[in-house]
Amino acid sequence: MTEITRRKETQVISPARERRLGQRAPTPLKTGIPSETWRECPDRKVWEFLASGRIFGLKVPVPEGCGIFLVSPEICTMKLLVILAAVCAITNGCPSIISKSAWKGRGTKCNVKLNTPVNNVVIHHTEGAFCSSQSACMTQARNIQKYHMDSKGWCDIGYNFLIGEDSNIYEGRGWKIRGAHATSYNPISVGISFFGSFTNRAPNAKALKAAQDLIKCGVSKGFIRSTYTLKGHRNVMSTDCPGNKLYQTIQKWHRFKA
Ligand SMILES: [Zn+2]
Repeated sequence: MTEITRRKETQVISPARERRLGQRAPTPLKTGIPSETWRECPDRKVWEFLASGRIFGLKVPVPEGCGIFLVSPEICTMKLLVILAAVCAITNGCPSIISKSAWKGRGTKCNVKLNTPVNNVVIHHTEGAFCSSQSACMTQARNIQKYHMDSKGWCDIGYNFLIGEDSNIYEGRGWKIRGAHATSYNPISVGISFFGSFTNRAPNAKALKAAQDLIKCGVSKGFIRSTYTLKGHRNVMSTDCPGNKLYQTIQKWHRFKA
């Protein structure tokens, strides 16, 4: 991103290049840039806009938060689109999350919003069965949701997200609804729980990476403050959660503070 931004300052659009660009303005884009300044690239994969006589911007159909890049004039190629998508994945990208509807969870009855960005991330284990396939993790998610809603009487599964050793992230209450996982920390944190019991072993590397990617995603999307504190459940309540081995692991993670 830095390199691309730097390049734009040294390049000037030729008149021929300007003529090659279409004149039809696209549908107004959510960019803050007036739609009449946008021009459609010939391959119709990207949008350009002219500003300050020589700087072009680009609208790329990539994940949320990745709308505009300032780049050099020669941008109407799929190759660059791919490069930009990759840059976007690094700077703003998020891992894919298996939605609650995809794991066939019940609809939420919760209505208390989580005030974001939150200052904390709290790590848990479910202290139940681990899972290393998507179908097993989906079953586990449904079981936990049933327990939390039917036995505990909660409005939904308690955690904001769950992580399986199949490397997938499963949506719980998500980024926008207050969780039920750490009492006083519920309103000020996102709760992430690993499927399984991690007293004698840590989750596998794929699951650990998924959780760390999810935290980065939360920061890039503005749901978690960049100065967040990472905690284990035991740091904020009297509990063994998230298990000794998982707790040892997260103590080495970025921004951990007991
Ligand atoms: Zn816990």
